[in-house]
Amino acid sequence: MLIVQKYGGTSVANVERIKAVADRVSRTAQQGNRVVVVVSAMSGETDKLIGLAHQVSSTPNEREMDLLLSSGERVTSALTAMAIEEKGHKAMALTGRQMGIITDTVHTKAKIEKITGERAKRALDEGYVLVIAGFQGITEGEDVTTLGRGGSDLSAVAIASALGADLCEIYTDVDGVYTTDPNIVPGARKLQKISFEEMLELASLGAKVLQTRSVEFAMKYGVPIVVRSSFNDNPGTLVTKEDEEMEKVVVSGVAYDKNQAKITVTGVPDKPGIAAKMFKGIADASIIVDMIVQNVSSDGRFADISFTVPRTDSKKALQLTEEIARELGATGVTLRDDIAKISIVGVGMRTHSGVAAQMFETLARHGINIIMISTSEIKVSCIIELKYTELAVRVLHDTFGLAEAE
Ligand code: ADP
Ligand code: ASP
Ligand code: MG
Repeated sequence: MLIVQKYGGTSVANVERIKAVADRVSRTAQQGNRVVVVVSAMSGETDKLIGLAHQVSSTPNEREMDLLLSSGERVTSALTAMAIEEKGHKAMALTGRQMGIITDTVHTKAKIEKITGERAKRALDEGYVLVIAGFQGITEGEDVTTLGRGGSDLSAVAIASALGADLCEIYTDVDGVYTTDPNIVPGARKLQKISFEEMLELASLGAKVLQTRSVEFAMKYGVPIVVRSSFNDNPGTLVTKEDEEMEKVVVSGVAYDKNQAKITVTGVPDKPGIAAKMFKGIADASIIVDMIVQNVSSDGRFADISFTVPRTDSKKALQLTEEIARELGATGVTLRDDIAKISIVGVGMRTHSGVAAQMFETLARHGINIIMISTSEIKVSCIIELKYTELAVRVLHDTFGLAEAE
């Protein structure tokens, strides 16, 4: 088999952990598999580099930021390759560029366009274990890019797809995908398997165990993923196509996202084309707008529009919105960033009713006010006050009986 193994930050946090990774890679290779390893930076390293950038600049240049951030993964790829050689295997570390990971030019959240990988394929044929620096690529114009936070997951899935790997294993600090973050709810239950669709919702709603775009990519190209722990040999969670069993479960997970901010524009003239104008400017800045709510005044002349963006983009979004609001003749713009999004997810919601009501009722019972609501076929999300996040996760996990065995 050809297996891609991705190791996250905590799994390569120090030399002992890197040696443990080399051990596992060595065992996998000895079982007759060809192995391609993808590594993250040592845990905390990316945050440290971002911190340094902000110490020398108030708005760090994004091109330079990418060059800086990509260095973290280079360090671990080289060290891991050395540690694997020490175990008696041929190993070769490659940067994103050497792997031929070609991306678009959107710095700090670039999209992969193609993977050439000729060098890598040759080395694999020559019997090397490859160790690829995750999270990074290169533009056609040869600028280094990074793939957004948690982007090594995407590197791994895309490389698995490009090389036609049989399996993509994501090694992390928990045993698999749980009904909710096991670090917040100790009673959370590990799922044996989960559908791509549910995983995509959970990830995009804040469950950072897999990066959203990595799940999107895996779903599109049918890359089977197993999430498991680098600290033990427990079976992990298989992320795969939906089956009938999965429909029987109404709610399969609870997710939360603390990286949220809400912008409200008041007194916008209510006429065609206003929303289009407002959101175009924000989209052009590659900022993802999530929930949008519009209320029209009773006389129908003015509207208030509220929407949410990632808190990390809120400064930029606020500035853009203020410019557009002025052009449109709106009366005011406000920002609120003490909020979080809390969501329940399950493919079974398609065929069961009353789930949203049960969620609202549970939050109300615990005195948690709902600021905004959005729903899709398989999820319900509420914006609440940030300070109630953990409480909301726990009571919803309880209400929907997620701790009980399948
Ligand atoms: P890595 O550094 O290996 O990429 P991450 O920190 O990005 O690891 O992701 C793993 C973390 O995701 C876990 O430690 C856990 O706190 C968090 N998490 C959030 N939701 C879930 C969930 N539903 N199941 C498992 N882990 C979750
Ligand atoms: N090191 C990067 C981050 O912290 C990418 C990753 O770990 O996947 O976001
Ligand atoms: Mg991660």
